[in-house]
Amino acid sequence: MIVVLGSASMDLTTYVAVAPALGETVMGREFRTVPGGKGANQAIAAARAGGSVAMIGAVGDDSFGEPVRRTLAESGVDVAGLRTVPGPTGTAHIVVDDDGGNSIVVVPSANATITGTEEGDAERIAAADFLLLQLEAPMAAAIAGAEVARANGTKVVLTPAPTQDLPDALLSNVDIIVPNEHEARALSGVDDLDKTIEWLLDRVPVAVVTLGEQGCLYAARGEEQVRVPAFAVTAVDTTAAGDTFVGALAVALGEAKPVVEALTWASAAAALAVQRPGASSSMPERAEIEALVAG
Ligand code: ADP
Repeated sequence: MIVVLGSASMDLTTYVAVAPALGETVMGREFRTVPGGKGANQAIAAARAGGSVAMIGAVGDDSFGEPVRRTLAESGVDVAGLRTVPGPTGTAHIVVDDDGGNSIVVVPSANATITGTEEGDAERIAAADFLLLQLEAPMAAAIAGAEVARANGTKVVLTPAPTQDLPDALLSNVDIIVPNEHEARALSGVDDLDKTIEWLLDRVPVAVVTLGEQGCLYAARGEEQVRVPAFAVTAVDTTAAGDTFVGALAVALGEAKPVVEALTWASAAAALAVQRPGASSSMPERAEIEALVAG
């Protein structure tokens, strides 16, 4: 089983030709609301990829909370650990321009109330094979979850995004860290990728650095590095590529797929996701991943 502790939000996405400068008003082309948040994205990606998945998090009692919960449930995610709290659901206000560039304002709202120590949270984490963490929920919740995981033999997979300093209390309990290239460089403070990987492996036993259309790099202490290319596809929206990758990777590792096969499987899931708009709306079902991997 996979447990995801993290954010569940509503993405409010506006598509414009050119994003407005400060003080400017422009006409938009289209507006969409799609459930998102890094935690929910990883949970949905893992469930669609065939994993047995439970979510620990919080939504508000506003009009966004129910659709976010429903999308998770309809994807097959166990939402018993997703609390409904008074006040608004977390939101991400996203402006996407014609070049595919985006700017995003994240308002945590209900996600700020996540503790990782609510009734049932520890039992869920202890019973899981993997705990997936990202950093849109409070750091204290991630630390609490990781400690329970470590004490119970649950492997911790951390997506260190949004980038911030990582306390030892968290890092010391992480088994696999999965940053994208920018996050990896920001964490290490060095530009060189080899040095960045050295920095990561000094702190965490396994690092998987995703490199966008360049694929991904797997590095483990004392092992040869493995580079897996991305699938050649035409990307229309790379939102949640990384989250789809992590969700599918956890499923593959949980099925004891060998490393290269697991990375290929995760890359296939992400390649399918970047060909469709939105976050949760873009994530593939298991059969689609299998078809792409089979070629
Ligand atoms: P993030 O979404 O966190 O920024 P990346 O951009 O590194 O992460 O993408 C994660 C993974 O998604 C990559 O390792 C790759 O497998 C896949 N991916 C991303 N962009 C593309 C693309 N344009 N074509 C094919 N695969 C892609």
